[in-house]
Amino acid sequence: MENFLKGKRAALIDMDGVLYDSMKYHTLAWQKMMSEIGVECSRDEFYLYEGMTGEATINLLYQRAFGRDCDREEARCLYAIKSEYFKGFGPREPMPAADRMLGALKEAGMRCVLVTGSAQVSLLESLAVDYPGVFAEGDRVTALDVKQGKPNPEPYLKGLEIAGVPASEAIVIENAPLGVRAGKAAGVFTVAITTGPIPRIEFEKEGADVIFSSMKEAAEAMQRMADAP
Ligand code: MG
Repeated sequence: MENFLKGKRAALIDMDGVLYDSMKYHTLAWQKMMSEIGVECSRDEFYLYEGMTGEATINLLYQRAFGRDCDREEARCLYAIKSEYFKGFGPREPMPAADRMLGALKEAGMRCVLVTGSAQVSLLESLAVDYPGVFAEGDRVTALDVKQGKPNPEPYLKGLEIAGVPASEAIVIENAPLGVRAGKAAGVFTVAITTGPIPRIEFEKEGADVIFSSMKEAAEAMQRMADAP
């Protein structure tokens, strides 16, 4: 495998499904909230919507079920309910081996910028506790900072701006097909790590530059790259 850390100065890193093993709870919270308002949906479909803003996800299901968008204020309320369900499912779980991956990136001298479609305050506030010293103050793009969520490139373009590097000197780290699409659309070398049930083919379709089948595999590969002369 080519050393894709070579010559790179910044890593733009997704949160859910990369830094936290949280997608299993997000998908469950989405399905619970949407079913309660009479929208038929499966839990697994929400894995495919990962990266979209809450409002975009709600509108996608509203269009399918009712043939119209959701009122904006109502969408905000629904997203708040979903967020409460998520929080209630238990304590956060850092993704095993993600700390080793971040250690390798720091060792390689890279600036780490968080780029998430989430507005889940319960996780965002925990980053400094679970991954101390990795993300500098302000080195983050969340759902609150963008007009267009993934798969639009806007979140990753904002991440490049914060890092102060051109696309050619950054990498994106993602676990979601729509996130990979956003990274590629921003012109960035995009690393996919399959940490959930989505099959590898979905990441190939989106043009991921490298696909790892687990965080452990990704962390070990990046450690080798960081150690390479
Ligand atoms: Mg993710």
